Amino acid sequence: MRKKIIAGNWKMNETPSEALKLVETLKPLVNNPDVDVVYCVPAIDIVPVVNAVKGTNVHVGAENLYFEDKGAYTGEVSADMLLDAGVEYVIMGHSERRGYFHETDADINKKLKKALEKGLKPIVCCGESLEQREQGITEDWIRMQIKIAFSGVTADQAKGVVIAYEPIWAIGTGKTATSAQAEEVCKSIRETIAEIYDQATADEIRIQYGGSMNAGNCKELLAQPDIDGGLIGGASLKPDFGKIVNYKD
Ligand code: PEP
Repeated sequence: MRKKIIAGNWKMNETPSEALKLVETLKPLVNNPDVDVVYCVPAIDIVPVVNAVKGTNVHVGAENLYFEDKGAYTGEVSADMLLDAGVEYVIMGHSERRGYFHETDADINKKLKKALEKGLKPIVCCGESLEQREQGITEDWIRMQIKIAFSGVTADQAKGVVIAYEPIWAIGTGKTATSAQAEEVCKSIRETIAEIYDQATADEIRIQYGGSMNAGNCKELLAQPDIDGGLIGGASLKPDFGKIVNYKD
């Protein structure tokens, strides 16, 4: 039985003082011991948010990391920096980073290996564009993204990775994939993991759906057999996030 994981991706929102207010607002709303709750926050918000969630069920994640250990990489943040600041999870390969910052599948593979080597829990994003969906190549595209991302990762390591399926056309657009569309791709991702490793690894790995998930549509999406949680952008900045965390109520 895979534990559901509901993660907020705050993106480039919330100054440190706004972040503290948001944590306070959400505090009474996100209490659900049956779900792993994660706030993935901008680098500058990590330290205040780690302090603010102490004693709660909330885990803190970063939105990115760099794959080198240290040195002359102006503006980047290393795995050791994240760990020392109290971060547990880290998103990698978000379509906004792939698109605006030209991250490649090979970069994401290096980031995944670095995060695992250091003991961070990775959330690896994948997803197709509208054009790719219309061309009928969604599953092939995502299988390729997963195969490259997991190259050189062992089965034991893979079990602790979270994969977020995020169709690009559904991110921040208010257009959600239907639960059938989301389930179809999440199932295919699980099959890909079984092919690369084995069925036991595929059964253990958690797969999230992301793309305009909100309080209204989360229940149906999270009821799908291969959807083990959500990666939530816009709705993670609102009390709605508490409703998603408590989607069964
Ligand atoms: C995201 O960016 O990961 C995301 C899913 O955003 P939204 O929920 O706003 O579509």
